[in-house]
Amino acid sequence: MPAKKAKTVKKKTAKNAVKYSYDFGDKTDGSVKLRELLGGKGANLAEMARIGLPVPPGFTLTTEVCTYFYANGRQYPKSLEAEVKASVATIEKQLGKKLGAEKNPLLLSVRSGARESMPGMMDTILNLGLNDKTVKALASESGNEAFAYDCYRRFIQMYGDVVMGVQARSENEHCPFEETLEKLRKEAGVKLDNELTAENLKELIKRYKAVIKKRTGTSFPQDAYEQLWGSVGAVFKSWQNERAILYRQKYGIPAEWGTAVNVQAMVFGNMGETCATGVAFTRDPANGEQVFYGEYLINAQGEDVVAGIRNANPIAKLAEEMPAAHAELVEVCKKLEKHFKDMQDFEFTIEDNKLYMLQTRNGKRTGLAAVRIAVEMNKQKFIDQKTALKKIPADSISSLLVAVFDPAAEKKAKVLATGLPAGPGAASGKICFTAEKAEAVANKGGHAILCRVETTPEDLRGMIAADGILTSRGGVSSHAALLARQMNKVCVCGASDIVINYGAGTLKVGKTVLQEGDDISINGTTGAIYAGSVETAPSEVNQVLNGKLKAKDSYTYKMYDQVMKWADKHRKLGVRTNADTPGQSAAAVAYGAEGIGLCRTEHMFFEGDRITYMRQMILATDEKERRKALKKLLPFQRKDFTGLFKAMGGRPVTVRLLDPPLHEFLPHDESSKRELANSLGVDIEVISNRVHALHEANPMLGHRGCRLGISYPEITEMQAQAIFEAAAACYKLKKPIKVIPEVMIPLVGFADELKNQVDVVHRVAAEVMEKKKVKFKYLVGTMIEVPRGALTADEIAETAEFFSFGTNDLTQTGLGMSRDDAGSFLGKYKELDIMPQNPFASIDAKGVGQLVEIGVKKGRKTNTNIKLGICGEHGGDPASIKFFHNVGLDYVSCSPPRVPVARLAAAQAAIG
Ligand code: ADP
Ligand code: MG
Ligand code: MG
Repeated sequence: MPAKKAKTVKKKTAKNAVKYSYDFGDKTDGSVKLRELLGGKGANLAEMARIGLPVPPGFTLTTEVCTYFYANGRQYPKSLEAEVKASVATIEKQLGKKLGAEKNPLLLSVRSGARESMPGMMDTILNLGLNDKTVKALASESGNEAFAYDCYRRFIQMYGDVVMGVQARSENEHCPFEETLEKLRKEAGVKLDNELTAENLKELIKRYKAVIKKRTGTSFPQDAYEQLWGSVGAVFKSWQNERAILYRQKYGIPAEWGTAVNVQAMVFGNMGETCATGVAFTRDPANGEQVFYGEYLINAQGEDVVAGIRNANPIAKLAEEMPAAHAELVEVCKKLEKHFKDMQDFEFTIEDNKLYMLQTRNGKRTGLAAVRIAVEMNKQKFIDQKTALKKIPADSISSLLVAVFDPAAEKKAKVLATGLPAGPGAASGKICFTAEKAEAVANKGGHAILCRVETTPEDLRGMIAADGILTSRGGVSSHAALLARQMNKVCVCGASDIVINYGAGTLKVGKTVLQEGDDISINGTTGAIYAGSVETAPSEVNQVLNGKLKAKDSYTYKMYDQVMKWADKHRKLGVRTNADTPGQSAAAVAYGAEGIGLCRTEHMFFEGDRITYMRQMILATDEKERRKALKKLLPFQRKDFTGLFKAMGGRPVTVRLLDPPLHEFLPHDESSKRELANSLGVDIEVISNRVHALHEANPMLGHRGCRLGISYPEITEMQAQAIFEAAAACYKLKKPIKVIPEVMIPLVGFADELKNQVDVVHRVAAEVMEKKKVKFKYLVGTMIEVPRGALTADEIAETAEFFSFGTNDLTQTGLGMSRDDAGSFLGKYKELDIMPQNPFASIDAKGVGQLVEIGVKKGRKTNTNIKLGICGEHGGDPASIKFFHNVGLDYVSCSPPRVPVARLAAAQAAIG
């Protein structure tokens, strides 16, 4: 999607100063409507406060502060300091506590919050306000010294890391705080952090401070406001850290959006056995089922659950351990879904049996879950049909079509271990212990399974590259699970029987030892893990479409079918497919294709003997010889077209005449040249000379497309004859198929080019009808794929009965960028936001899109009945489909597996 620009920072005027800090709590300034300004977290905290959910009071510094910060050499707006003081005072008043005070000290959390959530990408600081004095107050007021010092050591650790930059300096180094903590645990003889005594913790704090002093030369700050400003600055700065940048690139989030900062009074899940912290979903985010889903830890704080430091409990257990809080949470789920009308992912803390809500957002979900939640929420009358359609990212429908393990093969495979099913589907590949390794395997075209003890945001690259993700630690809300859901990756997490040893490069389960590079298979729907690679089978939807499974036996198919029916009801765009064979065509029809938008005839010339005749044709030195070779090709083409027309059962079929430069068909290496010379009974010299003669400096812009048919009309003749004779044969079948072939002339830039070719086509059509004694309808049209074609579309449309925008070539020729060579600089362009989207994947709406718009307008001006479609790669891209809908095309054409995606995206475009 084209990036939306953030609102420009408003000018401060004397009377009407810009408000930078929005309070929430007893009095709430913001709401969910201010998402752009407050970020997702801030807006939803405000909204929860508004609907009466228990939210600790706080305030949000707007994304405009972030924009200002980066636009002004990392300075804040002048009025910010006073606003922050006032907002802190509001919290202080509400809670009867004071920041930095030695009695009733107020403690704060400082958290990031962008418009779109970016889980784990930016930094959070908890327990702010603690220092050597306030920690004593917290200890005596809570009556729990260990708790107070645990909070303090966590704060120093987070602050030291995030604000003061005390981190591991290389891959091989451990985090200095973790190292210090581990050493102390050993000395104290305990396994878990929460077994450390107050005395242990005091010692730990001393060592932490020494680490900071040693590494930075400065001391950990004792002043609460200095801590606050340090933390706020660190959060704003984290917007530009490497992982945040990478994440934004992947998800197309513009850098200008900026992040908000949320400052909130702390509540404590780590004050004892009546306290807990957790993460939960109102429905299962992996498969979409309506169950209360999540996990929690008793006596823990913040990220403990997500980080997988201790194994968290499934939320159902809370019903036994804290029945009142559990019941309250169930009510919260209902209230949240009713209010937000979507599945929610929320974070909560229970302090002394009292529930507090710390965050809610629309939960990230797998494609499967997106479909199920939308369908079921419609059934439950939460949302209407159009809303349900909009809630399913069009791409996610394809996750209902991905392979599963072949049931027989899976039964035979040896189960190594079982983990939590966190991303449905089946994946087999090589064990990779690092992101780099996974990238290396994937770059070579292999399949990688990223195997980690737990994943951290640094593993993002590897997760992108891998087919599947396996972790031995961390539950359903762990980082791995969260991102896998979002990326629609197969994922099994928290497989605690697995022991991964990075140092030794092994993955062990009991006595079985696997090495990096060995095959492993994971079933993200059941959680099963297998050694070796397990064969896959078609998805349930495909099995129903192939007649191997009954529709009534597959809930997945029923959901798919429901969504597709809704989509077809609402969409205005037709959906066709790009297919060259009967097999591809049949698959596309099963997926709902309404015709073929592009059949590339050149693909038909490579099989078996055909390539030989093709080469004879190309090597011919005169027309007579050329015709002789073409005559041999004719029956092949005719048979291919007959097959295609039959498979399409009377649906429209657009056949493009020969397009690529001829030398693509010629042999280039010595031995195949010799082989060809022998088969043609000529000297190898002849072949070499001809190959040489056909060489072009820039074939993309060379002798190709309609230029071939104009130079050698007999090629066009033969192809037209094959198409029309195939059509005639279909009309003569016992059960006639009334196909209406659409003959498409490629690469037209001049009206006269088209006229030249159309004359040939019409002549041949008349001859075939005469000879075969049948009458049939057909259309002749053109591809619009060079800028001149788009700009003179009015002239071209006088002859063309249809246009198909060839957006692949139109992008190449419009941008003057070769698709095959753009890889070397597109990465940099993306990074610099020059072109945030790959223009060959998602249409460059401003530039190439404008050419399409001009072509549409001019074409319709001289030919009101002209049919307009698009057959580039963009036909399967949801953002591009929206664009094509808006410019008023009649149909899009895409590869067979993208057809369901295109149907859904077309409906979403129509709904708006
Ligand atoms: P992320 O965006 O990475 O999820 P959050 O801003 O949600 O980061 O903070 C991480 C965790 O810190 C939260 O899940 C919550 O458990 C804890 N936390 C944040 N604010 C508070 C608070 N005011 N009181 C207690 N815990 C908090
Ligand atoms: Mg959070
Ligand atoms: Mg083309």
